[in-house]
Amino acid sequence: MSENDRLFARSCELIPGGVNSPVRAFGGVGGTPRILVRGEGAHVWDADGEKYLDYVGSWGPLIAGHAHSDVIGAVAEAAKHGLGFGAPTRIELEMAELLCECVPSLEKVRLVSSGTEATMSAIRLARGFTERSRIVKFEGCYHGHADSLLVRAGSGLLTFNQPSSAGVPVEVAANTVVLEYNNDAELKAAFSELGGEIAAVIVEPVAGNMNLVLPHPGFLALIREQCTASGAVLIFDEVMTGFRVGARCAQGVYGVSPDLTTLGKVIGGGLPVAAFGGRAEIMERLAPSGPVYQAGTLSGNPIALAAGVATIKLTQAEGFFEKLSTVTQALAEGLSRAASEAGVAFTAQAIGGMFGFYFRRDLPSNLTEVKQCDIRSFTRFFHGMLERGFYFAPSAFEAGFVSSAHSMAHIEQTVAAASDVFGALARGD
Ligand code: PMP
Repeated sequence: MSENDRLFARSCELIPGGVNSPVRAFGGVGGTPRILVRGEGAHVWDADGEKYLDYVGSWGPLIAGHAHSDVIGAVAEAAKHGLGFGAPTRIELEMAELLCECVPSLEKVRLVSSGTEATMSAIRLARGFTERSRIVKFEGCYHGHADSLLVRAGSGLLTFNQPSSAGVPVEVAANTVVLEYNNDAELKAAFSELGGEIAAVIVEPVAGNMNLVLPHPGFLALIREQCTASGAVLIFDEVMTGFRVGARCAQGVYGVSPDLTTLGKVIGGGLPVAAFGGRAEIMERLAPSGPVYQAGTLSGNPIALAAGVATIKLTQAEGFFEKLSTVTQALAEGLSRAASEAGVAFTAQAIGGMFGFYFRRDLPSNLTEVKQCDIRSFTRFFHGMLERGFYFAPSAFEAGFVSSAHSMAHIEQTVAAASDVFGALARGD
């Protein structure tokens, strides 16, 4: 038995499903997850000593690759001064200044420790601010695992074909209105029927939890318009897209300004940091300034913030996103070319350092279309690539991530291996 298999079997005895977050379990693709022991640059190593080129990047945070010297250096330096205080610190202010400088819609921010906390708190704040209860979300978008958001959600819920969670009271779910992504007509109809009752619309401005789905031209602007007209709070959930698709996040790419933004992943550089922020008038409703309660023992932890500040600074360097986009785009184009040469129905796209690929002929624009992908082919592709040393997300419903440590040479190696796998798929062996 390999060391991987042994460790995972033992983990299954003590941890439900052997994992601390569902998609890690390989449930969508079968087989045993790799127990990872080390990462450096674009690569990770498993417990059996196998090396993989990594396209998961800790599910998004590692935009500068594994163990970047600036990030590790900042963490080591911060750790010398103590691991946490539960009192205001300089680095919290530094992070708040950095976020507000980089993202113009942020006038005030509050730091938390996970994306789930950020979205859950933003929803509570929007409800407190508007004194309304209903929220609108889009099918296939995932906003963490707070009760009101686990309704027809993406990510692990899609992977396990269980779009809404057990344990969420119907009364809670009843306040969540779910619409189709990129469907202008449905959005307008929902607002004309319920407009005055909607506290907030929460949306992934680029959807990355049902594979990758880009917003149609005008879709985000229409949401903005409807929210403004009805007094609903517009929340962009940029936990995944923040500092991942551009230096000013997805709102900078699309030129639409939300009232509140949630951030996570990259802003912690691999450690647990997330944030929500936006218009001062709304943020001032938070305790202790206002009546909406929100708190956290480890919020603003100085070690985590050291990693986050160092990582965000790397993304603000001249040309960072140009290079990252070029490499990521080359991956999407290379995979598409290789598939087309082999005669496999396949398409791919990229934005910033994020990519999606789909075993279907056309790019999907909503969850129904994503679900039309050939999952069997995806599964065979996933395992074929893993055997060859390329680590993609173990689910057809997750976006992929490229870091600044990925080079064109890495992309060429990936495309060459993919050609092999597509050839085998086309031959049916
Ligand atoms: N929102 C989005 C868009 C996400 O992608 C995720 C996590 N993948 C979350 C919220 C939840 O973040 P966390 O897993 O840190 O709780």
